[in-house]
Amino acid sequence: MNSIILIKYGELTTKGDNRKEFINLLYNNLKDKLKKYEVNIIKEHSRMYIEYNKENEKDILKVLKTTFGIHAYAIVYKVETDKDLICKEVLKQFKKENYKTFKVETKRRDKTLPTTSMDFNKIVAGYILKHCSDIYVDIHNPETYIKIELNKDYTYFYFKEYKGLGGYPVAVAGKGLLMLSGGIDSPVAGYLAIKRGVKIDAIYFEALPHTSLDAREKVITLAKKLSKFSGSIKLHIVPITKLQEEIYQKIDGTYMITILRRMMYRISEEIARKNKNLILVNGESIGQVASQTLTSMNAINEVVKIPVIRPVACFDKLEIIDIAKKINTYNTSILPYEDCCTIFVPKHPVINPKIEKCIEYESKIAYEELIKEAIKNTETITITNEDEFSSIL
Ligand code: ATP
Ligand code: MG
Repeated sequence: MNSIILIKYGELTTKGDNRKEFINLLYNNLKDKLKKYEVNIIKEHSRMYIEYNKENEKDILKVLKTTFGIHAYAIVYKVETDKDLICKEVLKQFKKENYKTFKVETKRRDKTLPTTSMDFNKIVAGYILKHCSDIYVDIHNPETYIKIELNKDYTYFYFKEYKGLGGYPVAVAGKGLLMLSGGIDSPVAGYLAIKRGVKIDAIYFEALPHTSLDAREKVITLAKKLSKFSGSIKLHIVPITKLQEEIYQKIDGTYMITILRRMMYRISEEIARKNKNLILVNGESIGQVASQTLTSMNAINEVVKIPVIRPVACFDKLEIIDIAKKINTYNTSILPYEDCCTIFVPKHPVINPKIEKCIEYESKIAYEELIKEAIKNTETITITNEDEFSSIL
């Protein structure tokens, strides 16, 4: 293995006691995501290093771009911690790049080393100026930085640093159940939860034959796109045709959606409990539709105890769309297939539903039985990582 990438943890550094666990998780996630390549991952208190073969570089960088818990990363050169050797090697690599202005930034990671960071900056800059013509130091707006990290035995240096996704390593926060429709909002909600370290399972309600298998495929594609960030995703596909037909036949049109969503919440909570998901995550956004007014959210949320996290609750639709484009789910989300919430849609859904009314309507259907049946007939599939990569990230 002839090349090295240095990884900075960013947010992890602020996390005190949890730090060790975070680093271990990031290490395990990377190990898993990179298992098809020959790599050696070295974890340290404030840095991680990946040793790899140059021919795999592009693929490995793609993986880093989709991994949460990485603040920044850089392709680095490694030299023994010896002043003369470092100067020579930095000069050799610097000359290949054709920069006109530069600034040296040294971090003396091992404080027992005799030369301070400031002095080391001057030594390296002086050496470069002496051996190159037409090159200048610019401390305010350099064309390139020369970043040097001095450790006890080895020193790393690099010119370019790339921004990582930030966030926490997946699974640091435990497992959540994402209510994944084929729309724009729920994949974005899932992505944001994954960013906070939530390992995601997903649940999709379908009403065949009123909804199509194309709609199901669309949800599977969205789950695949999310799995790029989270690792494999368990997707529960819940048939709710009977429940929905009962609601359609027996319940006043204005309350149909409210009641349907109460059923979805009940089923989600039950499936979450069985699968040790600690929270539900969904793409509800305040005021977006009748079922997402604050009164509606109360009437719907009332049927469950499990915390419901709504990562996009306070986002504008345009902000959600921006993220959907960035994570490459947008083009799939806008494919025109029916969702079970959009079939049988009443002309005037209630905007301020009353909980007593919900209870009264629900007494007209044997929903407990129907929920049991839906859960019994739930199909669970595991969606694994896809190779496709969004170039926008
Ligand atoms: P999205 O909100 O994902 O763009 P949408 O706008 O069609 O899709 P809404 O009617 O706004 O969906 O529903 C709000 C949330 O309820 C969704 O974001 C999703 O989390 C959940 N949800 C809706 N329909 C389904 C479904 N068929 N299966 C699973 N979850 C669903
Ligand atoms: Mg929505």
